[in-house]
Amino acid sequence: MPVPVPVRVPAPVPGPVPVPGPRAFRELRLVNGSTGDPALFVDDPGRDNALLFDCGENAALGDDRLGDLEAVFLTHHHIDHFIGFDRIVRANLDRDKALHVYGPEGTIRKVYQRIKSYEFPFFPFMKIVLEVVEVWPDRLRTARLECARRFPRPRVAESPRSGPVVYRSDGLSVEAALTDHTVPCLAFALVEEAAGANDRSPGSRIAYVTDTAWSEASRPGLLELARGARRLYCDSFYAEAQRPQAEKYRHMTATQAAEFAREAGAGELVLIHFASRYRGCYESLVEEARAIFPNTTAEIPPPAAKIPPRAAKDS
Ligand SMILES: [Zn+2]
Ligand SMILES: [Zn+2]
Repeated sequence: MPVPVPVRVPAPVPGPVPVPGPRAFRELRLVNGSTGDPALFVDDPGRDNALLFDCGENAALGDDRLGDLEAVFLTHHHIDHFIGFDRIVRANLDRDKALHVYGPEGTIRKVYQRIKSYEFPFFPFMKIVLEVVEVWPDRLRTARLECARRFPRPRVAESPRSGPVVYRSDGLSVEAALTDHTVPCLAFALVEEAAGANDRSPGSRIAYVTDTAWSEASRPGLLELARGARRLYCDSFYAEAQRPQAEKYRHMTATQAAEFAREAGAGELVLIHFASRYRGCYESLVEEARAIFPNTTAEIPPPAAKIPPRAAKDS
């Protein structure tokens, strides 16, 4: 009989606030825990410049939180990572601001298609501008989608990519690395620059890595991205017993996530993106990782109250 593993919610990064001071990631929330669609909300409360990593279902974030977003970082376009994008557009539609959207190859076309699938009344107060950036291995492709101009077909500009940083704003930077998934996919690191541009001391870096095989192709970039991270959020779609499936579908096992955290010298590992096949025994994934990397946690919410299935018909 395995010993039950107490699973705790990772401690919020020190807060509450007060601002001003250097911008920091004081609030980090897995919107759907470790078991739902991937989405990591990052905020420094008191400033309206929150960040969101991945666009899985995000109904738990009200329009006020979504309306605070400054930038969204999409890992890829599988539906569980992209389905929440429409709610973000809606919550920001009448805001006079630029919302920055980063993603892998194909993001400009896919974001444009999503927007154009709706009819808009185009009221004059609808001023949202989407600044979309595609991150390729060697270049960045950018396009500006403007509501006030009724979202004409985007004109795409290209520039060479140099170094891992793709976004920098108000004391924070975001780095990107390519993963090894079934489609183009990115991993990200969020860095507090107040600690120094090259600082790798604990506290300056949070890494978000999901939907990747742990392979020769992905390891060097992901290790560099997560090296010395205070917290590593990492794909743990499978248990090690399902290693063949992990390799086939380009995901990681809990064991691989733990080996990654240990090799990267991370302070804490938070497992995310558990496959639903482990429902009822998610703790076993945490237990598996803890055997290799003791400071492993996960957010396993209690089962939500569900609408009961419909009653059987008489006829
Ligand atoms: Zn995927
Ligand atoms: Zn996924």
